[in-house]
Order: sequence, then structure tokens, then C-alpha cells
Amino acid sequence: MIIVMQYHASDAQISNVIGHIREAGLKEHVSRGAELVIIGAIGDEDKLDPARFEVLPGVERVTRVAKQYKIVSRVTHPAGSVIRVRGIPIGGEQIQVIGGPCSVETPEQMALAAQGVVDAGCRMMRGGAFKPRTSPYAFQGLGVQGLEYLKEAAGRHNLPIVTELMDVRMLDTFMEYDVDVIQIGARNMQNFDLLKEVGRVNKPVILKRGLSATISEWLMAAEYIAAGGNHHIIFCERGIRTFETAYRNVLDVTAIPVLKRETHLPVIVDPSHAGGKAWMVPALAQAAVAAGADGLLIEMHPNPCEAWCDADQALAPGELAQLMKTLAAIAGAVGRSL
Ligand code: PEP
Ligand code: MN
Repeated sequence: MIIVMQYHASDAQISNVIGHIREAGLKEHVSRGAELVIIGAIGDEDKLDPARFEVLPGVERVTRVAKQYKIVSRVTHPAGSVIRVRGIPIGGEQIQVIGGPCSVETPEQMALAAQGVVDAGCRMMRGGAFKPRTSPYAFQGLGVQGLEYLKEAAGRHNLPIVTELMDVRMLDTFMEYDVDVIQIGARNMQNFDLLKEVGRVNKPVILKRGLSATISEWLMAAEYIAAGGNHHIIFCERGIRTFETAYRNVLDVTAIPVLKRETHLPVIVDPSHAGGKAWMVPALAQAAVAAGADGLLIEMHPNPCEAWCDADQALAPGELAQLMKTLAAIAGAVGRSL
């Protein structure tokens, strides 16, 4: 931690700051410039709370040196991590596409969706059984029955399943149904109790970015999961809220290289919830792969017009298959495969 003293800080104020550093068991390194005194605290920074120093007389500002996210940081793990979902690697050379409807509706819809996922060449299937809807009167998902339909349809093609956990009380059920990847939705990115609980289980977790979360808040949210022992975390950029109203959210493409630099964990992109319109999905998906995403989470419905949820943004099975072809070309151009 670095403590910059105010211009005319007195010797007594400087000594007071040093006293606090020593009290915490750290050592000080004092740099005296012509006008400013800067004090470095040497040792385990976690023992110091910047807020306690900011209020000391004569202190101008306090800056942490070490990153607060440790387990998820690339500093502690320079090589990229590959997360395996029933043998399917996420984060390696191959880009993985997870396809499926926004919500699980009926066994027939799920059977057709699963067939569409396989035909397009995707290796994993999504489907929401518990839906976080803005209106309490909107379809909330089929609940446990939805898990049943998802598992049944995906199981016939041996596709691992990805589905959202909203409430910690359903975690045991998710374990019983052997959900392959637990999705933590944007609205729950900072539901710290939920993060702690999924941190205790041995299941890959897709952590979606909060609607207005900074990269640092997102990394800290992942650290909550990792701190519990579960290091199988996949970041998912799904668009952030800005002043723009022409589309549902703004896909933050910049977040992809930034996150890849900050963390060793895989980063995937959800172009569906970013654009909010099916016709935008191919362009955003292509941009994501070009920018280094390790995978995509794409909404596809056998009959988009009839979807019970997010009908506007769902691709038809044929559109997903077509998109996969263009993604394969882009993946090849950036040294990856699909
Ligand atoms: C979803 O993937 O179905 C979903 C609700 O996404 P988000 O949490 O990103 O809004
Ligand atoms: Mn959706």
C-alpha cells in the first residue's frame, strides 16, 4: 500500500502514519521529495485497511498495490485455465458454443431445440428453468419440471446442460439433477451469499456480468466463488447498461481482452442478451470470437416467434447452424477452432 501525504504534512503526522503501519506488523519505506512525502507499507497488505489510513491527519490518498482478487488473477496463475465440462474443454484452443432456448417450455420444444443444437454443431445446451423476469407477472420458468425437460432433451444427445440458479435453496436440487454448469445471472452477480454457496460445490459456474458491474467488481465476485474452493469459473460478458436505448445492452467487447489479461479463467460472451434482437446476434458473436472469447452462449428456439421469453433475440435452428459456419472461419483466422 502506498500512502501519499499532503503537501505540508508535519513530521508528527508522518510519524503517526508510520506508527499505524508498524502496529499492523508491516514495515515502512519513506520517500521524501522536495514537496511530498510518500510512504510505502511493506508486507502483507491484507492486514491494512486503506480506509483507516485515509482518515489519518495529513494523508492525501492511499493506493493498494496488490490486487484484491488473488485466486482468479493471472498473476497467481500465468497460464490460462481450461475448465472441463464432461470432458468438453472451455478455455483451450477450441471455442465452445452453448445453444438453446431462453426458457424451458415443453418437452416438444426442448426436443426440437436439442436437435437444433446438435445439428448446428454446438456441444452444450442451455435452457432456463428458473427465470429472473423484470415483471413478477411474466412467465417465471417451469422450475424443477424445467430441469427435468432440459435434462431429458439434452441427455438424448449427450449434451451437458447449463441452467441458471437464482436461489440458494435450489442448489441441492441442481446437484440432484446433476446440472453440468450452474449459471449465475447478471442480476445475481453480487448476490454474495449465493456466490459463497456455489463456491462450496464442485461444479463449473458461469458468472455473468452484472448490468452495471465494473471489471473489478466482476473479478471480485468471481473471487467470492473461488475463495470457497470452487475454481471452475467461466466469465460471461452479456452486455452492460449505458445511455444508449437502440439496443438492449451494449456488448462490451473491450472487456474480453481486458479480462483475458487479468484472469486465467475462460471468458465467454452472450450476444443474445447484449443486442436483444436476433438480427444483431451474428455480428456480435463474430466480434466476440475475433476479440478472443473462449465461447458463446446463444439463445436459439425451434420457433422464435412462439418463444415464451426473449422471442425477439432467439435465433432459429437454421440461423444458428449458419452462424456456426462463419464463426469457424473467424476462429481459424485467430488461431482457434470451433
Ligand atoms: C439468461 O441467460 O437467460 C439470462 C437471464 O441472462 P442475464 O442474466 O445475462 O440477463
Ligand atoms: Mn433470455
